[in-house]
Amino acid sequence: MMTQLTRADFDHAMVPNYAPQAAIPVRGEGSRLWDQEGREYIDFAGGIAVTSLGHCHPALVKALKDQADKVWHLSNVYTNEPALALAKALTERTFADKVYFCSSGGEANEAALKLARRFAYNEHGEKKDKIISFRQSFHGRTFFTVSVGGQPKYSQGFGPIPGGILHAEFNNLDSVRELMGDDTCAIIVEPLQGEGGIIPGEQSFLEGLRALCDQHNALLIFDEVQSGAGRTGHLYAYEHFGVVPDILTTAKGIGGGFPLGVMLTTDRIAPAMAIGTHGSTYGGNPLACAVGLAALETIDTPEVLEGVAYRHQLLRNGLEGIGQRHGVFQEVRGMGLLIGAEMAPGYAGRAKDILNLAMEEGLMVLVAGPDVLRLAPSLVISEAEIQSGLDKLDRAVASFVAASASA
Ligand SMILES: *Cc1c(COP(=O)(O)O)cnc(C)c1O
Repeated sequence: MMTQLTRADFDHAMVPNYAPQAAIPVRGEGSRLWDQEGREYIDFAGGIAVTSLGHCHPALVKALKDQADKVWHLSNVYTNEPALALAKALTERTFADKVYFCSSGGEANEAALKLARRFAYNEHGEKKDKIISFRQSFHGRTFFTVSVGGQPKYSQGFGPIPGGILHAEFNNLDSVRELMGDDTCAIIVEPLQGEGGIIPGEQSFLEGLRALCDQHNALLIFDEVQSGAGRTGHLYAYEHFGVVPDILTTAKGIGGGFPLGVMLTTDRIAPAMAIGTHGSTYGGNPLACAVGLAALETIDTPEVLEGVAYRHQLLRNGLEGIGQRHGVFQEVRGMGLLIGAEMAPGYAGRAKDILNLAMEEGLMVLVAGPDVLRLAPSLVISEAEIQSGLDKLDRAVASFVAASASA
């Protein structure tokens, strides 16, 4: 028999880049999880917007088990049926004509940025290499994507940062105009900033980015790693805004918990990624694509997408009520089931304290930076689970306020 594993084993055997909670979940079903001691948790975190259909959704379990008996991996020396089926389904359901598969959001953005650079290089020569992104943005942890991301603390201390990257202010079109020129090859933006604090892009801002890109022959890249796969109540957030990007990246929720990333683009741009320009051993892995297809087909239905707005309203009302009762939040914002509650000035920087206290009440939540409590639950979380989670959050916030008052 295996000896009991504990949180202390993390400190002994894993590099210290994370600080996980003490409880170790061992089983999940829908929007509930149980730890080693059998304690139950309501899951408002969704594995950071990943378990889009909750834990062990029957359609995903079936797709994984069926594929597990067929073929696990081939590499891209061969193609495979799950990859072809998912590629067709994604192109039929989005603006895209072509897809590229990988295993994470960072890799999908790495591919998007390399494609944009190569497309500009082929079409316009080597001077058109500037990438504009936004402060506070997050695009992944590969060295290129983390440098493009707008949080310098994540890219400093690793040696020379790749060049040709400029940062503008999110939702400020003038700040983009100042940096934009004919040497701009692409703008990359999260239509709804996630890690940066759950900040929706403004309609006029996103439309303006599209116009600027058209004016300067630059590509518009939407990073929908967090906002995609039904999270906003549309399959992708670009549909909500009616602003169509040239390249879109999706990961997190599209795999429903299985590592899967995809870059989507058009027939005009795709040829720049010619044979040999880019690749990934695991890209298009049959297990990942089989699960991804099941997730896509389950999410992209009126039943699931139309339920997002209703769940959003329940959570928003609940958070606003908690904010009013305890005076802890200054704003509740977000889209669909990606919701942020910003701490009131008196509690600045302390969102993580609520996350910790929520665990004690049996509730998993997230933060987005030091000031924002973030919820990203399953798109099919039940009304009873939402209510139970909000009750637990109310108790966690009450003890947070009590502890703050006595401190
Ligand atoms: C999480 C995230 C990423 C990075 O995805 P990984 O799978 O962790 O590499 C990129 N962009 C956005 C918007 C994200 O939220």
